[in-house]
Amino acid sequence: MTKTIRTEVVVLGAGPGGYTAAFRAADLGLKTLLIEKNSSLGGVCLNTGCIPSKALLHVSKVMSEINELKEHHVDLGAGIPNLISVRQWVESIIDKLTFGLKNMAKKRRIEIIYGYGKFTSSNEIEVNNDGGITIIKFNSAIIATGSHASKLPLLPDDPRIMNSTDALLLKNIPKRMLVIGGGIIGLEMATIYASLGCKITIVEIMESLIPECDKDIIRPLVRRIKKKYENIYLKTKVISVIPKENKIKVILEGKNVPENDQFDAILVAIGRTPNGNKVDVGKAGIQVDKNGFIATNNQQQTNIPNIYAIGDVTHLPMLAHKATYEGKLAAEHIAGHQVNIKNKIIPSVAYTDPEIAWVGLSETEAKLRNIDYGKGVFPWSANGRSLALARDEGLTKILFDKLTNKIIGAAIVGTNAGDLISECALAIEMGSDAKDIARTIHPHPTLSETVAMAAEVFEGTITDLYIPKR
Ligand code: FAD
Repeated sequence: MTKTIRTEVVVLGAGPGGYTAAFRAADLGLKTLLIEKNSSLGGVCLNTGCIPSKALLHVSKVMSEINELKEHHVDLGAGIPNLISVRQWVESIIDKLTFGLKNMAKKRRIEIIYGYGKFTSSNEIEVNNDGGITIIKFNSAIIATGSHASKLPLLPDDPRIMNSTDALLLKNIPKRMLVIGGGIIGLEMATIYASLGCKITIVEIMESLIPECDKDIIRPLVRRIKKKYENIYLKTKVISVIPKENKIKVILEGKNVPENDQFDAILVAIGRTPNGNKVDVGKAGIQVDKNGFIATNNQQQTNIPNIYAIGDVTHLPMLAHKATYEGKLAAEHIAGHQVNIKNKIIPSVAYTDPEIAWVGLSETEAKLRNIDYGKGVFPWSANGRSLALARDEGLTKILFDKLTNKIIGAAIVGTNAGDLISECALAIEMGSDAKDIARTIHPHPTLSETVAMAAEVFEGTITDLYIPKR
């Protein structure tokens, strides 16, 4: 039997974007309904993305630190951890968080409809749960259907060829693994597997790892992982993959790389594809581009004004905090708030070792756009806290507009760079100039001092470095 429900707001997809939008809409007094095809809420972020990967990266960090102490003849005796116990630990974190979400949805009286939702018109979505059909009639809808791992068409079907979701299950630790794609996800997974004893080779088609980030920021990471990984092949293409009984043969094309190599497993991390084409948006009149992205205006509205889109399905970067931010904007606009965000300040973080984080304009972009900028760069080798952590390879770089001295971008590499970048994001949001940042008293000894000191370098007031007068 078909059931029909009427609601003010329906949110399609319960990832970080979707559940945030639904919670905010309900808090603003709107009758809200949330549709999710999976049995648990939280989307990629909670179930197969941010949270499980960061839990495993924590294990990886502890393992690396124990191994590094061995180099100083301190043997804490840990070998490779029991994979079952690690998996159970990760699952327990996911369970805790998804249970919390369900609870919060209930308290807000948000109705959750499980099943696969598709548009049938600009005021109606049909949800199919194993043949059980629910028709949702809505005033406003928010599309939050996220993205999925992109596939390399040339790859055969073989359980040893994984995407990030498979790799996070940690079924076994291969002896040698090829990671196709040197972006954030590929490098994070490489960090995890390397610390568990897997020999890693990375192949990246571009000339640099994490190509969207400045090369000087990537350099300390490359220096460190070069010592740990078997190979890092840049400007290299995978031409074909041939599964054999014991190994997978890979044919490569690039400068100074072997023509072929053999691996026990392959991780494909070449990016993610938005799910804009999978929910019959055409029936609602919504435009989708050829890649599957749904375009929106500054209020997150699609070309059909009562239908909004947020998160991975809209535009790059595909990040959880961008999805939640956009979820709130959409819900608030539906509730009648004034919303018009022209320029979103979205920090990006690679939770590698060392971490890499950036926000605003990169130096490469500033050069390309002929922006008249100045920069302050502070090397962590002059920071007491990083020396005390025995990790002084970091760098904090801040870009300023030469005319106004206002901060326009920042990039940090080093321990906890992902936490440090928030100060720079706030400074950009607040329109701070170099003096504001330099004169903010930062606690000592901390890594956060490097942010103030990078601003001091730009200002020419730095005392923690000696820079001869020109
Ligand atoms: P999603 O999280 O993809 O959620 C979409 C939801 O919609 C899913 O629950 C899906 O089941 C549901 N859905 C889709 N179609 C339908 C339908 N037709 N009917 C019903 N339900 C549907 N980002 C960070 O910011 N920090 C990180 O550290 C980070 N680490 C990551 C690590 C990995 C390995 C991966 C893969 C991603 C990582 N990301 C990270 C990216 C982050 O997970 C995504 O940007 C974020 O989850 C996007 O949120 P979303 O709400 O747009 O979509």
